[in-house]
Amino acid sequence: MQVFSTVRELTEFLDTLMKAEKRIGFVPTMGALHSGHLSLIEKSSSENDITVCSIFVNPTQFNNPSDLANYPRTLERDTTLLQTVACDVLFAPSVAEMYPKDEVFSFQNIDFKGIDSVMEGKYRKGHFTGVVQVVKRLFDIVIPTNAYFGEKDYQQLAIIRRMVQSLNLPVKIIGCAIVREFDGLAMSSRNARLSEKERENAALIYKTLLVAKQNVQKTTVEELKKWVTEVLNTNTFLRVEYVEVADSATLLSIDEWQQSSSRRLFVAVFVGEIRLIDNIVL
Ligand code: AMP
Repeated sequence: MQVFSTVRELTEFLDTLMKAEKRIGFVPTMGALHSGHLSLIEKSSSENDITVCSIFVNPTQFNNPSDLANYPRTLERDTTLLQTVACDVLFAPSVAEMYPKDEVFSFQNIDFKGIDSVMEGKYRKGHFTGVVQVVKRLFDIVIPTNAYFGEKDYQQLAIIRRMVQSLNLPVKIIGCAIVREFDGLAMSSRNARLSEKERENAALIYKTLLVAKQNVQKTTVEELKKWVTEVLNTNTFLRVEYVEVADSATLLSIDEWQQSSSRRLFVAVFVGEIRLIDNIVL
């Protein structure tokens, strides 16, 4: 595996491959890698000639300074882990490399059609502006054929799809299924920050989503959201930030089941200080 920390070195390396018309698969991450990330890399490697993984904790997408300061950074361990899977290139730039002071990164005027103002967009102000900024910059550097994103961050995936469509970027966005722990908790780099007790109780999030899924036909949308909120809030380790039922494509919230033929249930839950998100197709 090749490891690069500068844009110049990486582009020089990728240039030759591009000229040879190799398919480049790209998996952008913030590191502290787990099996969820690795599943994206495996998928990319099976569908491309070369797979590039980036590790960059992007400061512009954090709305909470303590979340940014405490975000796990394990580059050495991640590098070793990537060597055990089919990753060809690791790009791990510094903040100065990604955002040079003398360059201005203009924000593209994209109409996100409301996808950016609900759920994560509503509760993490500025988050998606930062996500779009970093992913656009990474796409400009890597110029991937295919890029892989997890459904764990379902709204982020929808935002990226919209960005690519709106800017007409020549990259195919591929959504990948959520990888879960043995007890159903969605894998997340932030899980490492949970105490033993918090980790145990966090499993209730997915268990509740599963029960909710089984009860779709028996309740109204409002009742279901209320039930999920109550079940999660009854656990003393958990505190719900939002529970939403939305259309899978528009991500706009629905009040009646008939309003959408493809619905998803979304939650954001604090487990102690740690904020986790999950979602399930209904
Ligand atoms: P992150 O490092 O958290 O920014 O995640 C990098 C990529 O991995 C994003 O596309 C995430 O959606 C994806 N990802 C994170 N956790 C999981 C998971 N449990 N299952 C599948 N994909 C995931």
